Amino acid sequence: MFGDQTYDPNCIKELFLPFDLIHQEPVSAEQVLDFVARERGIDRRNESSFSAYHFPKVVDESELLDGERCGLCFRPFRR
Ligand SMILES: [Zn+2]
Repeated sequence: MFGDQTYDPNCIKELFLPFDLIHQEPVSAEQVLDFVARERGIDRRNESSFSAYHFPKVVDESELLDGERCGLCFRPFRR
């Protein structure tokens, strides 16, 4: 979740992929977020230490609403 939108892992990766990582080996969304968090001095493991408007927070699959869609590609999270 970033801001008031929820994104799938692929799209959140696109949104946050830093320039330095573009030409490297394929990386996962988690690796990208870990990298960006480190650069910004954000402790991803302590979600109460930052706002979802500054850095994305993890959403558990069980927290998704029925028919909720990705904020970027608009694909539904569940089919
Ligand atoms: Zn998406």
